[in-house]
Amino acid sequence: MGRTLHDHDAGDGLLSVEEAQRKVWDQIQTLRPIELALTEAFGCVAAADLVSPADLPEFASSGMDGYAVRAADIGEATPDKPVELKLVGRVMIGHRPEATVGAGEAVSIATGAPIPAGADTIVQVENTESPDRDRVRIFEAAREGRHVRPRGEDVQTGDVLVARGTRLGAPELGLLANAGVPHPLVHPRPRVIVLSTGDELIAPTETPDFGQVRDANAYTLFGALREAGAIPVLAGIVADDPEVLKEMVFSYEVQADAFVSSGGVSVGERDVVKAAFFRRGDVEFFKVAMQPGMPQGFGLVEGKPFFGLPGNPVSVFVSFEVLVRPAIVKMMGRAEVRRPTVEATLTEAVRGPRGKTQFARVIVRRDDAGWTATPTGGRGSNLISTISRANGLAIVPAGVETAPAGETVEVMLFRATGG
Ligand code: AMP
Ligand code: MG
Repeated sequence: MGRTLHDHDAGDGLLSVEEAQRKVWDQIQTLRPIELALTEAFGCVAAADLVSPADLPEFASSGMDGYAVRAADIGEATPDKPVELKLVGRVMIGHRPEATVGAGEAVSIATGAPIPAGADTIVQVENTESPDRDRVRIFEAAREGRHVRPRGEDVQTGDVLVARGTRLGAPELGLLANAGVPHPLVHPRPRVIVLSTGDELIAPTETPDFGQVRDANAYTLFGALREAGAIPVLAGIVADDPEVLKEMVFSYEVQADAFVSSGGVSVGERDVVKAAFFRRGDVEFFKVAMQPGMPQGFGLVEGKPFFGLPGNPVSVFVSFEVLVRPAIVKMMGRAEVRRPTVEATLTEAVRGPRGKTQFARVIVRRDDAGWTATPTGGRGSNLISTISRANGLAIVPAGVETAPAGETVEVMLFRATGG
């Protein structure tokens, strides 16, 4: 019997990028909402309409330093014929007013202090004169309510402060604090356990023996996870031993919301992630028609999403963008899943494998003619510096072998241009 030769460059027997994304996406659940303190809830998505338990402002207050009066008493006041009122007290900011303003009376008041009972209007201090502690002269008439900040002017009790599905940014945190919602109900940030597999790996603080490699992927994933909003937990380097890997994964099971490993998912003899999880049937191993990042593992281990990414650093970065990042965003209940894209003109040809979508690392720039994209180096998935010099991934679709210079391509921007 003849052997079947697979031609991966032709895309034989591979899932399309969209199929792989759907396979992952369909198995991801948004994390169960919890009440978090405001500083913890920053960047999280409201899991319900967050309703105000209070009016804002909560009490009527003065908008000026001056005197709280009754508008009816000062209707005739002018600079030439001031109205003299009896000074019956002072309201302090942060305190309930003790004095009450009766007819012909005034109380001295500071900006932000509560309006005392009986008063309806504030006269600013510049339009007054106080000859002694018991009297004040008012030089201007004022309509009722002048310089009074009414209670509930901004928000009424029961108003929705933050609609469900809104991500809490700086303005939302301040508003919730002000209204007395110190523990909003939000979808939490996923805790993601990061594992680097490979007998050859050492920590970046160590000096490699010949053939050893400093672990890059844990750090790439740390940054990518943080940036996506997750809480990365670096679990360290795991040897190419399926039992050790399994033990490691299960030791983190309680605190994990998801796992991301790198390495050990291709067809070599020591594919540790495959060996650890394939037989259990928890994790499925498949090939995606993309370059880099073809071999992938994904499944639920004890109900927690497990991403088995390939080992090459560029593959890790691209796989994260294509498969992991959308999942993290979904776990957080965020709606805006996709990176912004631009249509850019290639300044050089990009060669890709025929049957696969190629994600080429490019630097995108804007000039007078529009957006251009320039490759930052070769297509090899081990060429780690090609990512750090790039700000985008140019998408050369399956079916296109060479995208010539001058061709327009779609580019996913993974960081702000010019930054
Ligand atoms: P693997 O998929 O485990 O066969 O790894 C593919 C390639 O990526 C090998 O050359 C590994 O040495 C390299 N590699 C795997 N993991 C890492 C890592 N954490 N940091 C840097 N290189 C890695
Ligand atoms: Mg390996």
